[in-house]
Amino acid sequence: MPDISVKNIKGVGAKTTQYLDKLCIRTVNDLLKHYPVRYLEYKPPTKIGDINKDEDVVIKATLTKTPTFAGSNKKVLTAKLTDYIDVIDVIWYNSAYLRMTLRAGESYVFVGKMSKRSKNTLEHPTIYTVEEYEKKIGSFKPVYALTAGINNNAMEKLVKSAFEYIPDMDFKEYLPQPIVKRFSLEDREVAIKNIHNPMNRESLFAAKKRLSFDDFFRFLYGMRLLKDKRLRVKTKNIVANDKETLNEIKSVLPFTLTDSQDNVIEEILHDMSSGTVTNRLIQGDVGSGKTVVALICLYMAVRSGFQGVVMVPTEVLAKQHFKSMCDILNKLDNPPKIGILTGSMTKKEHLLTYEKIESGELDIVIGTHALLVENVKFKKLGLVVTDEQHRFGVRQRSTLSDKGEDVHVLVMSATPIPRTLAIILYGDLDISTIESKPVGRLPIKNAVITENDREKAYKHILLEIKKGHQAYIICPMVEESENIEAENVLDYGKKIADKFSQNCKVEVLHGRMHQKEKDDIMSRYVNKETDILVSTTVIEVGVDVPNATVIMIENAERFGLATLHQLRGRVGRSGLQSYAIFVRTSNSKLAKQRLEIIGNSNDGFYIASKDLVLRGPGELFGLAQSGELDFGVADIYNDNDIFEMAKEAVNVIQCDNMGDDEKDKLEREINSYMDLHYKKLAL
Ligand code: ADP
Ligand code: MG
Repeated sequence: MPDISVKNIKGVGAKTTQYLDKLCIRTVNDLLKHYPVRYLEYKPPTKIGDINKDEDVVIKATLTKTPTFAGSNKKVLTAKLTDYIDVIDVIWYNSAYLRMTLRAGESYVFVGKMSKRSKNTLEHPTIYTVEEYEKKIGSFKPVYALTAGINNNAMEKLVKSAFEYIPDMDFKEYLPQPIVKRFSLEDREVAIKNIHNPMNRESLFAAKKRLSFDDFFRFLYGMRLLKDKRLRVKTKNIVANDKETLNEIKSVLPFTLTDSQDNVIEEILHDMSSGTVTNRLIQGDVGSGKTVVALICLYMAVRSGFQGVVMVPTEVLAKQHFKSMCDILNKLDNPPKIGILTGSMTKKEHLLTYEKIESGELDIVIGTHALLVENVKFKKLGLVVTDEQHRFGVRQRSTLSDKGEDVHVLVMSATPIPRTLAIILYGDLDISTIESKPVGRLPIKNAVITENDREKAYKHILLEIKKGHQAYIICPMVEESENIEAENVLDYGKKIADKFSQNCKVEVLHGRMHQKEKDDIMSRYVNKETDILVSTTVIEVGVDVPNATVIMIENAERFGLATLHQLRGRVGRSGLQSYAIFVRTSNSKLAKQRLEIIGNSNDGFYIASKDLVLRGPGELFGLAQSGELDFGVADIYNDNDIFEMAKEAVNVIQCDNMGDDEKDKLEREINSYMDLHYKKLAL
């Protein structure tokens, strides 16, 4: 009986229903899952003599006389309280009924806030009988998210009224007893009650643990089921793991693959030839050589008769991949046909490309979001690669693979993320990691400098340019702004051009330019016609110009560590010694701390872990915990222990021999969870 409307609850009329609706609370279930955002502890009372103004207080005191109205309009009621040592005033608003319920000479417990102005006035306290309050001491008062029309006490009451429906609802234990015992889990029905009405600290912790465990467990178990299902589906989409074909493409590469690259390719080919559908995340730090891994897999798919597609987040990147892939493929005797699709192409070009994709004339297509439109239809799509996956919505990856049947999916990302989050974001994906960079790469040399050292930095840049290398200078802004004091590419470009005028050619690049202009500038840079590119972060991801050996980042403290690391990854992409210069223009402690981290390490995983500590996860991953990934109580960043427990539980259950009854209960719970949440996740 899961969907009982809140209207059925005692005392809930049309008005309250409307108010609750604003909080998206429509059913009893919604109400029970409206978990408190925090708790106040019911503390023992304090003496009147010890209290201060503007303070939350609990006072046990005697009412000296029946409350009286302070004015003629009967809005404000006043009285005096005493603990037989001190006396204070108390006032209530709009509470005439208290004249009937409170009795002079009687003791009560008053919980409320002292006036901001005076330590002699207690404002609008809640009143408890002494016995009532004594029972509550040590327990916690839940504090809820509210909306106009419902105050916290009312919400508390509503939730408690909903308790009576609990026995009829789906909160019965669904976990096998050995699991409940092994992880010392609280009973579920008890946990639901206690999260709203904890008697003490222990019962609150036990309730939170149980409900967080449920959040994680159901998610992970669901993922496991999806994965099992995927692995059980036999597909005809088989990409032959043919050594000859593999060697053919390897032989035209301008370099030898690293062992890491070879291993990852082997893992992927093993998957794609296995008769099950591949879903794999390729993680590898910037510059580890992910593109060529994708290219080889695409080639193998094409040789098995499939089409392949690569989606990237920017046009610059699409063009770059297109060119680098063409360069390699064209060395083959019978190269696959490769095409590009981006938003800035003309309508005519779009239509022509759609046609070529649908007819199967193109074997490989590289593109941006433009690939997602309905008109892009494939003849025989076999492999989808998403590059720089973290730039796309978590849920965008299925749209492309839906354009074919049993399509193999590879997602590539350089953003290292903690394991818990990787599992949550990428769920049922297998993970391959490119551990090392191509041999012969020298570690990038870093320098964090202040404005005083700019001239030195320019000299260094000039030195590199004289060696025939190229440089990037990154500014946070496009143009001057009244409010923000930070370098902008337009002015900076001019300044640098003046400064270096005899020695080198400078160009400016930013996101507000037309695509054509951006492309031209980029290709001049790639062709070494330009020496210095003064740019915003449009070049942040993926751009690959191995001849660039120095990057100078202005107002470096304005960028997140992940961005700085990605930016730095634009250099150090060849055997040449490369340099990253971070200009710090703030003296704040945080700025110093952050730039110290980036200056001292070239390791993306290390930097990400530090970033997590400094900035907090919400900001870092742009992923609020709001509904999107529905972990009601669980905190996906801090409840690591419980996450591990849930993971272990999923593994244990797999090996256990459960009775049919137990299995049924478990499956029912997981299925209803999946119905509810996986639609949103669209995995
Ligand atoms: P990322 O992992 O950041 O996407 P890329 O795929 O852009 O890295 O590769 C970075 C650079 O390294 C490119 O210029 C690429 O051609 C080169 N590269 C890739 N693999 C190797 C290798 N095994 N040996 C030498 N250079 C390589
Ligand atoms: Mg890349």
